[in-house]
This record gives sequence, C-alpha cells and structure tokens, in this order.
Amino acid sequence: MNIACLDLEGVLVPEIWILFAERTGIDELRMTTRDEPDYDVLMKRRLEILSEHSLGLRDIQEVIGGMAPLPGAREFTDWLRERCQVVILSDTFYQFAAPLMRQLGHPTLFCHSLEVDPSGKVVDYHLRLTDPKRRAVEAFQNLNFRTIAAGDSYNDTSMLSAADAGILFCPPQNVIDEFPQFPVTRTYDELREAFLAANGGE
Ligand SMILES: [Mg+2]
Repeated sequence: MNIACLDLEGVLVPEIWILFAERTGIDELRMTTRDEPDYDVLMKRRLEILSEHSLGLRDIQEVIGGMAPLPGAREFTDWLRERCQVVILSDTFYQFAAPLMRQLGHPTLFCHSLEVDPSGKVVDYHLRLTDPKRRAVEAFQNLNFRTIAAGDSYNDTSMLSAADAGILFCPPQNVIDEFPQFPVTRTYDELREAFLAANGGE
C-alpha cells in the first residue's frame, strides 16, 4: 500500500508569500525556502516585516482568498487520490491554507500554526515538529506504508530522501544540481508518469 506525500506551495498552489509581497509591494517578503533554507530564520524575518508594516492575518488572508490552485492541480490531486492515500506535507500554516484546501477538495494536510493576538497581529508561529516532512514519511513507513514523495525545493529534500521514491516538481536549478538522484518533472503529466514509474507502472 502506498502513501503519496506532496508538498503544497510550488507543487499544487503558488508561493503564498510571493503573491503577498507583490500585492503589498514589500520586496523582502518574496524570500522563500528556495532562498533561505533555514526555515526559522526565514519565518522570524517575515514576522518582523509584517510587524514593521502593521500587517495582520486579515491582510494576508485577503490575498489568499483571491488565490487559486495551479492550473491542473485539482485534477492531478483527484487522479492521485483514486490510486493511493494522499497526504500534503507543508511548511505553511492552517490559517493560510484553508481557502486553497477547499479548492483542492480538502485532502489531508499536515502543517503548522500561527499565533495571532486579539488585534489580528501575527505574534509567533508554532512548528508541530522539527523536520516534519521527513518525520511524517518515517512515521508512515513505521506503519508499513510505502511512501512516494514529491516536492519542489530545499525544504522537501529530507522528505524525498527518506521516502521510498522521491520526485522533484518544477525545482530551481540549484536543487537539481545538489540532488541529482531525484527525477525532475515539470508538468502534471510528467508527475503522473513519475508516480506510475515509482509504483512499478501501476
Ligand atoms: Mg514548495
């Protein structure tokens, strides 16, 4: 029995922080795990910037409310869910993801949570675990599931390495160069083929 573990941003939906940076005109918020692999450093800086600009959760949710999954993402997710169990492993936050998960048909999502004060200011973030994507894959393996994982960036590589098969989807060149062991896919058709190949053609 297989479990498919999918990254969210960059695989099924756009990068939330990049869209938010475009709408607000704050260039520094464009930074993602592609640029800063240390997630804690990245998040602390994002919260500082939000505070400096007096931007709260409502401002961010307004932007996310107008976002849609990447074209073809819903169809890909439905195709995969007909063939195996699908779990989305993301470094986003439940407060951000809800409108997008509705559009994807509410697949299972493991991610993090934000701490917001009564005024709506984001005061802190809480990671459920360190290295949660890799540890989720290892936990599934301990439950005797075979796992196939797909992701696009640095924060996916420990998950891809731990999985029985790892697949890159639309990765930046530096990730391709550093992790040549993973097949690279750039369309959902290619990703379907890679999942089928990882599953012995079934
Ligand atoms: Mg990603």
